[in-house]
Amino acid sequence: MEDIVSLCKRRGFIFPGSDVYGGMAGTWDYGPLGVTLKRKIKQAWWDYFVENRDDIYGIDAAIIMNPRTWVASGHAATFSDPLVECKECHQRFRADKIADVSEKVTPDEFRAAHVKCPNCGKENWDDVKQFNMMFTTHVGSVEDDSSKAYLRPETAQGIFTNYKNVVDTIYPDLPFGLAQQGKAFRNEISPRDFVFRSREFEQMEIEYFVDPTTWEENFEKLHKACYDFLENKMGLPSSMIHDLEVAPEDRAHYSKRTIDVEFDYPIGREELMGIAYRTDFDLGNIQRESGKNMEYRDKNTGETFVPHVIEPSFGVERLVMAVLTSAYTEDDVNGEKRIVLKLPENLAPYRFCVSPLLKNKPELVAKAKEVYKKLREKYTNVTWDDSGNIGKRYRKQDEIGTPKCIVIDFDTLEDNTVTVRDRDTTGQVRVDINML
Ligand code: ATP
Repeated sequence: MEDIVSLCKRRGFIFPGSDVYGGMAGTWDYGPLGVTLKRKIKQAWWDYFVENRDDIYGIDAAIIMNPRTWVASGHAATFSDPLVECKECHQRFRADKIADVSEKVTPDEFRAAHVKCPNCGKENWDDVKQFNMMFTTHVGSVEDDSSKAYLRPETAQGIFTNYKNVVDTIYPDLPFGLAQQGKAFRNEISPRDFVFRSREFEQMEIEYFVDPTTWEENFEKLHKACYDFLENKMGLPSSMIHDLEVAPEDRAHYSKRTIDVEFDYPIGREELMGIAYRTDFDLGNIQRESGKNMEYRDKNTGETFVPHVIEPSFGVERLVMAVLTSAYTEDDVNGEKRIVLKLPENLAPYRFCVSPLLKNKPELVAKAKEVYKKLREKYTNVTWDDSGNIGKRYRKQDEIGTPKCIVIDFDTLEDNTVTVRDRDTTGQVRVDINML
């Protein structure tokens, strides 16, 4: 994990948030390479689940929503984690992360677990309390209870609250899905493990509305689609992805089936994403809270019912971390350790790097610029590198995952061919410029 964090900082992928002021716990900033990687991941997801399907439509809802949203969804009352404070050193922890107890642990259960404080080693705890993780803010110029609002802790509710508007405007056939990507905010008790548990992060969620009698087959289809996306678009090895069928007592109260899809991160096997059958819990609650009818009318049979929902929910940061984890490789080239990010070509921040063999030979630089310009006309994400010597350039491009390096040397001036060097094998071939 440390190697990946250090590579991310050294090469401009991910920096600690507000680094210049000593950081801001639970926040991370993406640098030039990281933001490109993240955007490519998000775009691949959007293409796969929205653009290339006929049954899933996109939306983009506001982050600050009417507070009634969070009353209806249950977040105001129950979106909490169990918090314990050590009476000796006053450090606070999430109880279920330091003891073998559930998220709903009672003070007595926690005491019975006899856990020592991970900070000072003593066993002198205050009672466990439930801590609501939503960030509050005030809307408008008056700061009182009537102006209190929340930063959304999930993107899902922005989808549910738009369900009726979408049905009334584009009349989609059931089953259909609504997808959204965007920021979510959770005041995590202990943000940790790099971007894995952040306080500000991005989600990509789909609410897939189905006839209740068909939920099982639709659950299976979406589950399969998620695996296809993770393996074939994100390049994650199937051996590193695992299903955890969440036991009834551990599921959210509204869910009749949940699968946590876990990944073998360097920090251990942890949740990458989840797929939940949420029944009609959300639409039913909105119907009650708003008084608006959430029923869907079947165009063929005329039957009306509140659709049930299957929700695949992805965290962007956890996907970024999984992609980096599976791409990070150390090997040995000519007796020297080499770090290489074997990113899938569709995700690598740069596709090609063009360089002149020597930067102090104007004729090589001019020819290399010509090749660079030609590729630039055809492709995005081409980079230019004439720093250091060629060996150093290869090392740098390997570390940032550039699949191909194109080098212009003296032979190029004679026969119009260039060296194309492959990131993964380090093999080199001569290619005519017109064939690039
Ligand atoms: P965990 O049990 O790890 O706290 P969760 O079950 O609360 O996660 P969900 O509410 O199901 O997570 O959120 C859906 C997805 O959003 C998760 O699978 C994960 O990818 C992502 N996610 C949730 N919390 C965070 C966070 N604090 N930082 C980064 N990603 C997160």
